Amino acid sequence: MRRPDKPLTQPTDVFNVRRKLRATLDRTALPDVLVRLYERSTGISHPSALIGRRNVPSTAQTPSAVLAIAAHPDDEVLGLGCTLYKHRACGDAVTVVFMTNGSGPDWGAHKALQRTVAEARFHEACNALGIIGITPAHILNLGFPDRGLMRYIPEAVSDVTTLFEIYRPKLVYVHAIEGGHRDHDATSFIVQYASTLAGLSCVYEWAEYNRDAPMNGNISEAKFPHDPYISDFTPSPTPFDYTAADIRQAMLNEYVSQKYLIERYPFTGEILRRAHPEYLLERFAYFRSMSLGRAKHLTRGLPKPNRSTHPATT
Ligand SMILES: [Zn+2]
Repeated sequence: MRRPDKPLTQPTDVFNVRRKLRATLDRTALPDVLVRLYERSTGISHPSALIGRRNVPSTAQTPSAVLAIAAHPDDEVLGLGCTLYKHRACGDAVTVVFMTNGSGPDWGAHKALQRTVAEARFHEACNALGIIGITPAHILNLGFPDRGLMRYIPEAVSDVTTLFEIYRPKLVYVHAIEGGHRDHDATSFIVQYASTLAGLSCVYEWAEYNRDAPMNGNISEAKFPHDPYISDFTPSPTPFDYTAADIRQAMLNEYVSQKYLIERYPFTGEILRRAHPEYLLERFAYFRSMSLGRAKHLTRGLPKPNRSTHPATT
């Protein structure tokens, strides 16, 4: 019998049920198939019709010394802004790649709305990166769906491998696999997997929010979470620099649409580590709290890396 002072269904109960349902669905293969079918039926397909896909080169370009690959417009500043500023201050050519269009998590939203949001976020990125002299020609968006990158891992690996061939970077920066945001982890997996295919060993990871350093947490410095698969990571915090910090803040100010989220981001410093592209599939599954079977399903069809040089998977 229900207590008289307790409503039958509280709004928070509904919210929790939805959240739990979504979390359960995230761990199955079925929704991806349905969502991809839906997207194809509405004309969203890789590569020609992805919303927000911009400036993706198909032929050889001037090599770029530094390639920074982020899941969403603003991540490159939150996790790497000071580092990017220092590269530009040294005169390095920097190209920034966004994996998703940043149009929001509602994949069922009207395409025109998604296009408008994607356009706005790309425009904000151009304004932010323009502060350190990165021109729009060096800002790419691959256009994969926001919060939906996991559904397109083989296509994204193919795109990133092509970018590696075109730009021949000396340094690549990307998110860590850290269990913070699904697109961040997917981006890290994709870039590290592509680096093994391309034979690139110059990949560095940055930390944003994660299990051990949560958004709205009570620690002020970014840190990597404990990784049970890799014992010899050597994180190195970027030394604090007032000028770089001011420039980073000025860049963040350009992301007006993300203001409410950026204000909650607790870290002002940055931390990097050299990537170890090992046990990628296991770590991706572990940090996303998904089964290895689900991870294998998401990565089905990927070309196999040369295990003799780069043991990306086990
Ligand atoms: Zn992000």
